[in-house]
Formats: sequence, structure tokens, C-alpha cells
Amino acid sequence: AMEAGGCRYQFRILLLGDAAVGKTSLLRRYVGGALGTLAPAPEAELQSEPTVGVEFYSRLLQLGAGRWVKLQLWDTAGQERFRCITRSFYRNVVGVLLVFDVTNRKSFEHIPHWHQEVVATQGPDKAIFLLVGHKSDLQNTRCVSAQEAEELAASLGMAFMETSAKNNCNVDLAFDTLADTIQQAL
Ligand code: GDP
Ligand code: MG
Repeated sequence: AMEAGGCRYQFRILLLGDAAVGKTSLLRRYVGGALGTLAPAPEAELQSEPTVGVEFYSRLLQLGAGRWVKLQLWDTAGQERFRCITRSFYRNVVGVLLVFDVTNRKSFEHIPHWHQEVVATQGPDKAIFLLVGHKSDLQNTRCVSAQEAEELAASLGMAFMETSAKNNCNVDLAFDTLADTIQQAL
């Protein structure tokens, strides 16, 4: 069912969500903080495609014994400010991290919009989504509870996780979980 993306062992993944929720920080933490974790020889290169306002990084990830997958991780580089991303950006995407900031209510309320952007372009049941409540280190100013985020995730048919790039909390786990779920759906 999951033929989008071409090569079975290359997953094209997007980070989507409002501006300033921490998408770029999350991505940089994941590709930059890779040494000594899952990938012994991580390939973390930044490439950019200024014409479409996106950037991508790649990282190799081991999924089970001897099975490697190349994650192609796409960032929106500011285009999300207008809440409308070039449609071609969603093509061949097999996984999406839907990111909000736990201290920014609006960014949580906009999650269904971002989800719908992908679904409207790809059709339903194509990409695998994971809802991410980011900046979990800011417990004193959080205004979105884990419970309501769980409920939203369940209603949209996805899992939920909280991350912090600042504390390096659950960053690897979020990407690994998404890649794992994609692999299981192949
Ligand atoms: P983007 O617009 O979604 O790509 O967000 P950025 O990665 O540019 O981050 C926006 C702001 O949030 C910056 O000031 C970051 O330093 C800050 N930020 C990112 N991740 C975290 C985090 O985990 N915790 C905290 N406290 N701040 C963060
Ligand atoms: Mg950014």
C-alpha cells in the first residue's frame, strides 16, 4: 500500500506546524545529535532548495538487524508562516511529524489544518503521522495538556509524543517511532 517514496529504504518525511514551534531545532537536534546513538555512521548533510523554500537533511537509521533506511527529512524554512505550503512539497511523503508548541495554544489548534493540508493533497491513509508536543521543558508555561493532545491524536488516528530539543528529550524516539510505524505499514 505504501509505495509512495519510491525506494523502499528511503523514507521522505516532513516536519509541519506553525512557525516558531521548534521544527528546525528538532530536526537539527536529531541529525546533529546522532553520534553514538542509533546510527554509527550518520549521514547528516544540509541541502537546500531555495526556489521552493524548503530544506532537507538526511540520516541513516537502523531499523532492526541489518536493515538500514535513509530518512530524508524536509523542513519548511519559513513558508509555514503563510500556513500554505507548495503542494508539490507533499508529494511522495510517507511520514509527517505534526509539531506544535506546548506553550502555544494556537499552534495546537492549527494541527488539524496541517493534517488536512497533507490529506487533501495526497488522499487519506497515505502518509503516517505522529503528533509532537514540543518544548516539553517549558512545564511552567505550558497551556496544552498531554491529555487533550492524546485525544486529538486519537481522533486523527495517530500517536502522540512530547519532545524537547533543549533537553534532548524524546528527539530520537520521535523520529524512530515514525520510521518504525512507516516500515510496519509497508
Ligand atoms: P520553527 O520555526 O518551527 O523551525 O522553530 P525554530 O526551530 O526556529 O525554533 C523557534 C524558537 O523556539 C527558537 O527560539 C528556539 O530556540 C526555540 N526552541 C526550539 N526548540 C525548543 C525546545 O525544545 N525548548 C525550548 N524552550 N525552546 C525551543
Ligand atoms: Mg524553521
